[in-house]
Amino acid sequence: MKVLLGDKLVEREDVKIDMEDRGYQFGDGLYEVIRAYNGTFFTADEHIERLFRGAEKIELVLPFTKEELKNRLNELLVANNIKTGNVYFQVTRGIASPRNFTYPDPTKVPAIFTASVTDVPRDQEQMDKGVTAIILPDYRWLHCDIKSISLLGNVMAKHEAHKKGADEVVQHRDGVVTEGGSANMWMVKDGTIYTHPDGNLVLPGITKIVLLKVAREAGIPVKEESFTLEQLKEADEVFTSSTTIEAMPVIEIEGVPVGDGKRGPIVKQLQDLYVADVEKNCGKIR
Ligand code: PMP
Repeated sequence: MKVLLGDKLVEREDVKIDMEDRGYQFGDGLYEVIRAYNGTFFTADEHIERLFRGAEKIELVLPFTKEELKNRLNELLVANNIKTGNVYFQVTRGIASPRNFTYPDPTKVPAIFTASVTDVPRDQEQMDKGVTAIILPDYRWLHCDIKSISLLGNVMAKHEAHKKGADEVVQHRDGVVTEGGSANMWMVKDGTIYTHPDGNLVLPGITKIVLLKVAREAGIPVKEESFTLEQLKEADEVFTSSTTIEAMPVIEIEGVPVGDGKRGPIVKQLQDLYVADVEKNCGKIR
């Protein structure tokens, strides 16, 4: 498998990350995931924009322009002959020694970039069936808008769900639902769709942007408003969204069925609209 290390395409086995890489030492870095369908990236510009916004927020100097990054990712996709899959890429604040919390001078310590791509088909069966979730307090930090590689809070939350035999987690702060473990969280009540507004408490999801756009175009009422656990209990439908799972129905929360315990009509409509938007950009996918 070919991967990217900086601007070079190299064999996966040849990448060795330094023990003093700030990503390894401090989780000091950013990452992104872009999905490719039929050999074409979907919403690549939006993902790249978010990486650049995150870099600005943490004063990380990226070693490429947006255009250069996009070209490299395309080369990676082609080199591995991946048609439908996920490209993961991350950038850390470089290798700095001795260990020091403060940022090193970026003119002396360049950022380290890696990227890999894997073949991942769409899981239509799961998207039809939906997933189960548990509820947990959101113990993460207050910069959830930054797509940081420091994912321990998310890892712990998802592991908790896994231990309880659930797929997902509904995270909340003082009873207000924020997001899933690695996805944005949505509910439907009386035909209106709700999701937490962007801000520092949730990741500004790229899938969320697409779903909001297609919902509005289709005339489905949408409110970027937070909702409580109480409201969640009364929801007609609940779903999550992310690049890798698109719009995913949540059919059971804490062992209690959501609605009738099956995928609801609004999420089904959104899934179809999402696929149509993907197909406009990347060709037929189902
Ligand atoms: N929130 C969190 C915490 C996530 O990890 C993700 C996916 N990486 C999302 C939301 C969804 O973002 P996107 O639609 O850009 O994949």
